[in-house]
Amino acid sequence: MKVGFVGWRGMVGSVLLQRMRECGDFELLEPVFFSTSQASKTQTIEGLDGSFVLKDAVHLEGLAQLPIILSCQGGEYTKTVHRALREIGWDGYWLDASSTLRMQGNAIVVLDPINQDRIAWGLKNGVKDYIGGNCTVSLMLLALHGILKEGLIDWISSMTYQAASGAGAQAMKELLSQMGKLSESAISDEPALDMERRVRSTMLSNDFPQNVTQVPLAGGVIPWIDSDLGNGRSREEWKGEVEANKILGWKTEPLKVEGICVRVGTFRCHGQALIFKLNKAYDLQDVGAMLDSANDWVQLVNNDKESTLAGLSTAKVSGSLNIPVGRLRQFSSDKSIYSAFTLGDQLLWGAAEPLRRALGIVLRYAK
Ligand code: NAP
Repeated sequence: MKVGFVGWRGMVGSVLLQRMRECGDFELLEPVFFSTSQASKTQTIEGLDGSFVLKDAVHLEGLAQLPIILSCQGGEYTKTVHRALREIGWDGYWLDASSTLRMQGNAIVVLDPINQDRIAWGLKNGVKDYIGGNCTVSLMLLALHGILKEGLIDWISSMTYQAASGAGAQAMKELLSQMGKLSESAISDEPALDMERRVRSTMLSNDFPQNVTQVPLAGGVIPWIDSDLGNGRSREEWKGEVEANKILGWKTEPLKVEGICVRVGTFRCHGQALIFKLNKAYDLQDVGAMLDSANDWVQLVNNDKESTLAGLSTAKVSGSLNIPVGRLRQFSSDKSIYSAFTLGDQLLWGAAEPLRRALGIVLRYAK
């Protein structure tokens, strides 16, 4: 079956293609590659035989030939092209990494280890739009899967530590050049306070590179991600609650998720400090066992310093599908409240992997 790929040159798209090659997914489909900027150029693609003439990603009639389109191109592209395709009567499956369609009533947010039933229901009932969730939401749900599926959680507070890659490739590049500038500005053998003064004045100077991050990210944190909803909540924080509930199936008693989303200077690994209240006090060992056994990717890390430093390492988790959960502790003031800290690669489980798996499910159904 032919599948059209749009946005495959970008960060999420490249990670998606890499995973598809690793998993042998291209044996199940015939790829047609589109581009908004390179149409009609001939391109070889690493790991795929032959060369491909890129099709025009805004040519509706060309896109409409395909039964399945997967877009990692971005929200603006989806806004214009998806609607226009539906208006001309295209009835194919649309899979998408951008947030544009996530909260539409006729779209399913895909995270199949959690909502495989919902995806299967959608396919049987003619749903055609399958959208990847917000990176932080998908990673949080996979980390807490063991207690979510038992329906034990009353509320969650998620304080995030989000990687630069979530703001796009340019943000990653800018973070690195900020690091370089700061490093160049200091003299390593001078007293620490003098070094800090030089670094701070570099950070505050007009030529410090911050076109994308807007304020210094290297050597700092940015406690606001995405737009301002005008009610004290950022759009990223709002997504944490509404998308989680949509993935979980809008239970009659919605899951309460609150928190503050913060950008930090990691490259592609997100962290989240989670506080959650369960419906009663459970034995800490039992909660740990439920978390550890929930799916193939989550791993419980012992809550001691040595295990934490080894197991909750952003450098080790980056580029992997692992979702370690550690720092698990029961509050002494209220035994039904627990803390945990989790990491996850935001380009893999945070973006490309749920889409890759959803594509496989759609393909198996459509055949
Ligand atoms: P990106 O890296 O900026 O790539 C998007 C598109 O930019 C490419 O597909 C390509 O399209 C074009 N492009 C122009 N110059 C390029 C160059 N030198 N190298 C590669 N591509 C170039 O976008 P992204 O970060 O992957 O995000 C894509 C979508 O996924 C967005 O909607 C985003 O919100 C969503 N998403 C991102 C993340 C994340 O972690 N970044 C996570 C979840 C969801 P053409 O071939 O058409 O020129």
